[in-house]
Amino acid sequence: MLGNIWSAVSSLLYRRQCMACGEDIDAAHHGICINCRYRIPLTKYWLEEDNPVKELFAGLVPVVHASSMFFFSEGSVWRTLIHRFKYGGRWAIARNMGAWYGAELRDSALYDDIDLVVPVPLHPLKRMRRGYNQSYYLAEGIAKALGVELCGNAIRRRRNNPSQARRRVSERWANVDRLFVVRRSDKLRGRHILVVDDVLTSGATLTSCISTIVEAVPDCRISVATLAVTRRILRE
Ligand SMILES: [Zn+2]
Repeated sequence: MLGNIWSAVSSLLYRRQCMACGEDIDAAHHGICINCRYRIPLTKYWLEEDNPVKELFAGLVPVVHASSMFFFSEGSVWRTLIHRFKYGGRWAIARNMGAWYGAELRDSALYDDIDLVVPVPLHPLKRMRRGYNQSYYLAEGIAKALGVELCGNAIRRRRNNPSQARRRVSERWANVDRLFVVRRSDKLRGRHILVVDDVLTSGATLTSCISTIVEAVPDCRISVATLAVTRRILRE
């Protein structure tokens, strides 16, 4: 009897919804139901030294390793999930997904010597309006899983760049020139930094961020982890 009551109470207490599809779940890995976990279009790029995401940065900025966790597609539950943590105030989803991605990165030997995790910053006004930087929470989840330091104020964003997706390549570069400035070079010096962003849609913002870091702090090494990547950019 008591057992039944307890299980009824605990199912109420712990009843949650999958962060991707919204179905009720009792317990789940990082808040994602077993169906979604099975169906997520993982890239597995974090297991490959050379992969299409790393290839994006070749010849532009020095990157040690680069990967994205899954392929982004319009109309998928994963787009909805990103939308929830980006615009819906659900920052905890970003941290949970960061924890999942971090656990995958931890199992890859390629990311063994990362010793600092740095999120791509939002412009301060945008962060104020949104209340948080979703990439900070992704980075927090990843840093915790990797057991390394997180630094959220190493870089500052000087201005907002409008959406890059529909711009021509030449316009994208003009648009992201001098977008960032390094604030804490003392934190970055001599480290292997994992720069974290949510969705890789053009590569221009990340490239701008990385080139700012290597200019200001030449003796650091940089790797990249984004939660999602659009397939379109990998074919460009
Ligand atoms: Zn689900």
